[in-house]
Amino acid sequence: MRNLTCIICPIGCSLETEESGPDNLIVTGGRCPRGEAYAQEEIRSPKRIVTATAAIQADKETALSVRRVPVKTSSPCPKEKTNSLLCDIYKMKVSLPVKTGDVIISNWNGSGIDVIAVRTISYAD
Ligand code: SF4
Repeated sequence: MRNLTCIICPIGCSLETEESGPDNLIVTGGRCPRGEAYAQEEIRSPKRIVTATAAIQADKETALSVRRVPVKTSSPCPKEKTNSLLCDIYKMKVSLPVKTGDVIISNWNGSGIDVIAVRTISYAD
């Protein structure tokens, strides 16, 4: 048995889950069917939006007050792949200028997940 709090809406129902067979997860406690769908995914294949910062590729003559650009995934990433994705983000250098919404990594490892900038930064910053 595992207890979860549903995060789909602000009510935050307390969900109880119990395996009653290899592919049968019983979910109780939710006020609507979305709670069961949330619990099924959270237990079978949890995913998260990943946020991080990526280093800025700055030329030697330019003094920047910011050194990193905040980024996030365009869609939830399977939890077990988060560390691998973070390693790739931390290895890269982003060239300026960069705008909010720019794709920093496209279709990461064929997953369909893009990594996008969430801040506009130019050489004037
Ligand atoms: S089970 Fe339904 S009502 Fe309860 S928190 Fe989840 S979405 Fe909201």
